[in-house]
Amino acid sequence: MGRPEKSRERKMAPPTHVLFPLGRLNKNRALVRTYEKAKNDEKKEGRGMEVDVARLRCKTCKNLSLSITCSACGGECLWERTCSNCQVMTNREECPKCGGKTHIWERRNIDLVRAVDEAKRRLGWTNLPEIKGVQGLISASKIPERLEKGFLRAKHGVTIFRDTTCRHDSTNVTLTQFTPREVRVDVPRLRNLGYLYDIEGKPLLLPDQILALKVQDVIISDDGAEFFTKVANYIDEMLVTLYQMKPFYNIKKPQDLVGQFTVGLSPHTSAGVLSRIIGFTHAHVGYAHPYFHCAKRRNTDGDEDSLMLLADALINFSRRFIPATLGGTMDSPLVLTTRLDPTEVDDEVHSMESCDHYSLEFYEAASRFASPSEVTVPTVKQLLGKPAQYESLAYTHAVRSIDEGPHMTAYISLEKRMVAKVKVEFALEDRLRAVDPAEVANRVLLSHFLPDMYGNLRSFSKQTFRCGDCNTKYRRAPLVGHCTRCNGKLLLTIYKGGIEKYLKPSLELVERYHLPAYMKQRINLIQKDIDSIFIDEKSVQKGLADYM
Ligand SMILES: [Zn+2]
Ligand SMILES: [Zn+2]
Ligand SMILES: [Zn+2]
Repeated sequence: MGRPEKSRERKMAPPTHVLFPLGRLNKNRALVRTYEKAKNDEKKEGRGMEVDVARLRCKTCKNLSLSITCSACGGECLWERTCSNCQVMTNREECPKCGGKTHIWERRNIDLVRAVDEAKRRLGWTNLPEIKGVQGLISASKIPERLEKGFLRAKHGVTIFRDTTCRHDSTNVTLTQFTPREVRVDVPRLRNLGYLYDIEGKPLLLPDQILALKVQDVIISDDGAEFFTKVANYIDEMLVTLYQMKPFYNIKKPQDLVGQFTVGLSPHTSAGVLSRIIGFTHAHVGYAHPYFHCAKRRNTDGDEDSLMLLADALINFSRRFIPATLGGTMDSPLVLTTRLDPTEVDDEVHSMESCDHYSLEFYEAASRFASPSEVTVPTVKQLLGKPAQYESLAYTHAVRSIDEGPHMTAYISLEKRMVAKVKVEFALEDRLRAVDPAEVANRVLLSHFLPDMYGNLRSFSKQTFRCGDCNTKYRRAPLVGHCTRCNGKLLLTIYKGGIEKYLKPSLELVERYHLPAYMKQRINLIQKDIDSIFIDEKSVQKGLADYM
């Protein structure tokens, strides 16, 4: 089974607007609510909020600060390294007094009311939208972001990934040729972007001329375009209000994004690749040149990667924000490849074919089931190092439109209803002469349903518990019967419904396709196991009369 396509903005769980720590003051991490509460409680409790946060001191006025520019006098702030045990200041990573590890952050009281009031004044706003901060900072520096950024993001309806960039994820689809009509961009605009000639060398004049996709150009989904419009508007307002600069993007509608630079990044890597938006698609995918997908160091099809606006990565991203944990640098734009060299990308793409037709020998070899090594098909490898490597890749079959056809797989539109998915799948397979539905049913049971049921059944007795309010996980349920941190209600992490969700569809498949008795017995055994764990409480409950 293939992987369903995806095109969606990336949201942290739960969604976050700004990397600003709120500690345990508000379990929903609602910053404005926390601020208002702190303001009302000021007289009783003072203004402090204890969090782990960067220790920066202003060179001029000597005040402690939360950012490298002093919020009191505008002076430059320097990092201070201390030992949390003995409060000794040092330049060394090891405390000279106790030998413990020193940090450039400390646990201290910060004045949230003042910080929010200052942000509000700098933005010049009278009302603040609610924004979500974080419980604590997990970077080595524990430097928070400027609060204004969070308010601007909330105003424009975007949230951040943990490295403070706004990401859009989509499934990689490869593309080597397109027409202006397909990507919904007019001819003069494409000519401006360097698309002067079509693949036959004729000047580009009409929307149906076929163009060779430049290797760092990308075609984004409609929802991606909507998302980046919001991000661009937030960045423009940030440039004006926070940095006293001119707006950079000036995007009024998604179409205005054409020509803007983006950074493509794969999960598990930290090297982004520069790209440029040149069009849009109704499909829920990201189209780009196979070299580009490969340059992100992924296989060229079916994986999903993220895009971010270049200015977002340049202005908002900082190494200071990324998690100090192992793997914290993964999925962060630490370096940027600006020029894609086809000879330097993964050689998987060098084996890609590049021909405008298959030879008669090819079809003859295919009809006698010859091994692929017996035939030669022209590949990218033969073009490497020549000008042809860029825009002379050939194709065998033209299409009317790259995104004609279903835009969403039934796998997604049927959402989580597995029973419905199975029903639809087998309704199709019953009709396909090339498919043996009984064999498919057997495979679905062996590779999906049985392992899932066995696995969940096994995990049920070893499961962890979690607090419904603060999400603290417990390996053993606390004997007091509620969360020991916040008194919240404890919940199971594996439910009965989750274990037996495949039971009924499994039994139906066995009956419908007359699967072997052995398979049927295996499922019956699981059913017995499930029944033995979840005793129907209603039938067990006895009335007083039962004992008389
Ligand atoms: Zn200062
Ligand atoms: Zn010490
Ligand atoms: Zn709790």
